[in-house]
Amino acid sequence: MDREELFRELSIKNENKIILLVMDGLGDLPMYGGKTALEMANTPNLDKLAEMSECGVADPISPGITPGSGPAHLGIFGYDPLKYQIGRGVLEALGIGMELGDKDLALRGNFATMDKDGVILDRRAGRIPTEKNIELCKKLQENIKEIDGVEVIIKPVKEHRMVAVFRGEGLEDGLTDTDPQQVGKKWIPVKPLRKEAEKAASILNKFLDMVNEVLKGEEKANTILLRGIAKVPPIPKMQELFKLNPVAIANYPMYKGLAKLVGMTVVEVGDTIEDEFNKLQELYNDYDFFFVHIKKTDSYGEDGAFWKKVGIIEEVDRFIPKLMTLNPDVVLVTGDHSTPALLKSHSWHPVPVLLYSKYGRRDEVNKFSETMCTRGVLGKIRAMDELPLMMACSLKLTKYGA
Ligand code: ZN
Repeated sequence: MDREELFRELSIKNENKIILLVMDGLGDLPMYGGKTALEMANTPNLDKLAEMSECGVADPISPGITPGSGPAHLGIFGYDPLKYQIGRGVLEALGIGMELGDKDLALRGNFATMDKDGVILDRRAGRIPTEKNIELCKKLQENIKEIDGVEVIIKPVKEHRMVAVFRGEGLEDGLTDTDPQQVGKKWIPVKPLRKEAEKAASILNKFLDMVNEVLKGEEKANTILLRGIAKVPPIPKMQELFKLNPVAIANYPMYKGLAKLVGMTVVEVGDTIEDEFNKLQELYNDYDFFFVHIKKTDSYGEDGAFWKKVGIIEEVDRFIPKLMTLNPDVVLVTGDHSTPALLKSHSWHPVPVLLYSKYGRRDEVNKFSETMCTRGVLGKIRAMDELPLMMACSLKLTKYGA
C-alpha cells in the first residue's frame, strides 16, 4: 500500500477543526546578536502556544534541498512534493481563477522589450502598469484565438505578467522557456525536451510569431517571454485523500492556485493580515480545514529586510489570541521553507513547527523559534508528515491493520 492509499483508507470525517497557519519563508538564520528574525521578534502568544504544543522542526522536502514555495506547500498539504511537479504556468493560471483541465497547457509570460533583431532590452517591459497589460492582452486575444485547432486563452495578471492557456488535443509539456534570463541576449524559441512535446512546441513558436506581429508597434511591450510552460499533474484532492472540507485564506495568486489544485475552496480576502484573520473567523463554521497563508515574511526575507520580517512575525503573533478564541481542535504553525534575510533567498534549512492539540505530548519548548523547536518532542520531521499528524490529532485517522 502506498502513502496515498493509506490516507484514503484510514481517513474519516468528523466535526473537529484544523487550522494550518503558514508564515511563508519563516525559517531564518542568526544575524543581529546571533538571533533569527523569529527569535528577535517579541511573540508572547506564539511562545505560550508553543508551551502548550508539541514542537519540532521540518525539512520542507529533504535535507539540503532548497524548495520553491510550490513544492514546499504541496508537502505541507500532505503530498509528496517529489511525486507531483507543478509548473509555474499552471500555478499562475490557477491563481487568477482559471479552471484548467487535462487538455490544457499553461504558461506565464512577461511582456518585454526587444530590438529589431530580437535582442531583449528589458525583461519586464519597464514594468508596464496593469491597465496597459489588460489592454495588450485584450488586443492579443482579439487577434489570436486559435492555432492549428488549439484554442488560445490570454489573460493579464499584474504589471508585466500575463498567462496563456492552450487548450487542445496532443499538447504535452517538457518545453523550454524563451527567456534568455538576461538583457542583451536574444529570446530563445521554444524547444521540446521530449518527442511528445513537439506539437506543443510548434504551436507555441507560431504563437510567438503572432504575438510579435500584434505588438510590433508597441514602444515598450513589443514581445512576450514565455516561462514555466506546463500541464496540470493528475493530483488527488484533499477531499479524496483526507476527507477534509478545506478552505484557503491567502491573498497571493500562486498560493490560491496551489490550494485550488488540491481541492481547497479559495475565498476572496483583503490584503492585510487582519483581513485574513477576520476571514478565518467569518468562515469558521463552514469548513473543517483552514489554510491561512502569510506572504510577507518571505518577501522581507528575500529583500534581506530582517527587521521588517521581525515586524510581520510580531503582527501575526498579535492575532494568535483571536485564533485561539475559535477553540480549534488542532493548530499547526510553521513556515513552508526558510528565507533567511542573511541569504536574501529561500534556503534548505529546516523550519520550526508547532502542533497544538488536546492529544499532544508535552515538551520543554516554551518559545517558538528555530533553536528551541529542535528540542521538541516532534523531533525532525518531513513537511509532508505534518498533515497526517494534524489528522491524527483531530482523530481523523483510524487504525492501520488489525
Ligand atoms: Zn514560500
